[in-house]
Amino acid sequence: MIYLDNAATTRTDPDAALAMLPYMTDFYGNPSADYGFAIESRRAVANERNIIADFIGAEPNEIIFTSGGTEADNMVTNSLAHSSSRWFLTSTLEHKAILNSINENRTIFIPNDMNGIVSADRIAGIQDGDVVSVMFANNELGTIQPITEIAEKVHEAGAYLHTDAVQAFGHVPINVKKMGIDMMSASGHKMGAPKGIGFLYVKKDLQWLITPIIRGGGQENHYRAGTENVPAIVGFGKAVEIARNTMDNRYIATKKLRDYFEDQLLKEVPNITINGRNVDRLPGHSSITFHGVRAEELLSYLDIYGICASSGSACNTGDEQPSHVLKAIGLTDNEANSTLRFSMNHRNTKEELNFTIGKIKEFLSIKNSH
Ligand code: PLP
Repeated sequence: MIYLDNAATTRTDPDAALAMLPYMTDFYGNPSADYGFAIESRRAVANERNIIADFIGAEPNEIIFTSGGTEADNMVTNSLAHSSSRWFLTSTLEHKAILNSINENRTIFIPNDMNGIVSADRIAGIQDGDVVSVMFANNELGTIQPITEIAEKVHEAGAYLHTDAVQAFGHVPINVKKMGIDMMSASGHKMGAPKGIGFLYVKKDLQWLITPIIRGGGQENHYRAGTENVPAIVGFGKAVEIARNTMDNRYIATKKLRDYFEDQLLKEVPNITINGRNVDRLPGHSSITFHGVRAEELLSYLDIYGICASSGSACNTGDEQPSHVLKAIGLTDNEANSTLRFSMNHRNTKEELNFTIGKIKEFLSIKNSH
């Protein structure tokens, strides 16, 4: 198997998986329990919260653990995108976790350019108390937004900034205080932690903005009820510790592979476009339009050889819905339906990429001979 779909999810880092096991089999106490046996679960949750907060320059009490990125995004939209007293400004490039949980009647869409960038000067009409939500990096293109400049503009107007950093967290440096981020969503399974864990960072003096979605016990400072997923939190903390120590090297290794892949494809495969290549991108994302090819057919062909990539289209009912992200950067329906996303990480090899390029060429020559 050749796994080139790390933007969809990653393998749980074996060290993170190993760190989790004792919190299922030995230290399984409920962190809220009063007896001594629960102390280790409680300690672990506090410890991982410290590690994660420190990694983004936040305070531990600014981290609310959630079940993942979707829940973190929904906490923001549920609290702030349905109010008649404020506007919610966002981009059409956002993940469905934002776009499908807002009230369009209370939303202003900020235009983006053809590279998928939302520049600060395109944000107009923000008022005191409004909320701007712009993703840190796009899941299909990997393009990174100028978050610091956006934050300045937002704060000048007396508004608040949320960023969905699900794709970027653990892959590029993020410091919420230095960058002026007020709220941030992150997810574990995109960066070597298990699925089903994430967090919402909310700046301490802005926590009054958030209304809990899940109510019950007083966990997570009353912002997210339910017994903490201690093993997943431990795995998340471990993956963050690994990212802290290796992120720079991983970035270089991953980018080298991605750039090699794209350079080779440009040399060897005619009629392709690489989307978002002209701007700052995450190191592993590669969005490629194979003009005249149906992405689903190419995907199925690659799948025969165990190559995992993805298309931006949602094929729920059999009819292909072109990706809203690709449409937002100006691709036609046909071009969007001819686009594949390959997302590498540091574990991939040049041999895997050469094999993949070979199979792409093979598919195209079979197709052309028909
Ligand atoms: N936001 C972005 C940008 C994503 O890429 C994803 C997942 O693909 C999500 C949110 C949802 O995260 P999760 O799968 O942790 O719910």
